[in-house]
Amino acid sequence: MDRIIEDGYQAFLKDIGLEDEVAVAEMIVEEIKGYDWWVVDGAFERLTCGECGSRRGRGPKGCPPCDLDEGFRYSARELDRAGVMPRNEHAIRVGAAVLRNGHRHSDKALLSWQIGFPMVLSGCMPTTPEAQALRARINKGATYEDLAATMVPDLTGWPLTP
Ligand SMILES: [Zn+2]
Repeated sequence: MDRIIEDGYQAFLKDIGLEDEVAVAEMIVEEIKGYDWWVVDGAFERLTCGECGSRRGRGPKGCPPCDLDEGFRYSARELDRAGVMPRNEHAIRVGAAVLRNGHRHSDKALLSWQIGFPMVLSGCMPTTPEAQALRARINKGATYEDLAATMVPDLTGWPLTP
């Protein structure tokens, strides 16, 4: 996941012919909207939170500038790739943000992304009942192993059977 972001950021710099400099990262996070989400995350990665000293948006929950950045990162561009289910890129974006910043999210949110992310990355999206079934199982205390055991090995199916 870190590689999606880092490789994407490097490719972006190469495309526009800019050096990997803090000033470039600052320019990107000033705007956010016009940039692909991994470019925005790559830029945040190069900047330090003035309050907690973490990379921007990745500090402890409750750090005011990091909480703001966490929100801002979602205004980046999320263009679906060809051949995926609609809104797939948004799901990848959210999953990447949650998994890379587990300490900012609940154990349950983290677990649902640990289970769901490979499928989302392969272009699939859960239906509403599938997503609800997964959430219900997690709320009842299912572990990663419980959920993984009921998944289709090719990662095209969501864990449904309790
Ligand atoms: Zn912070």
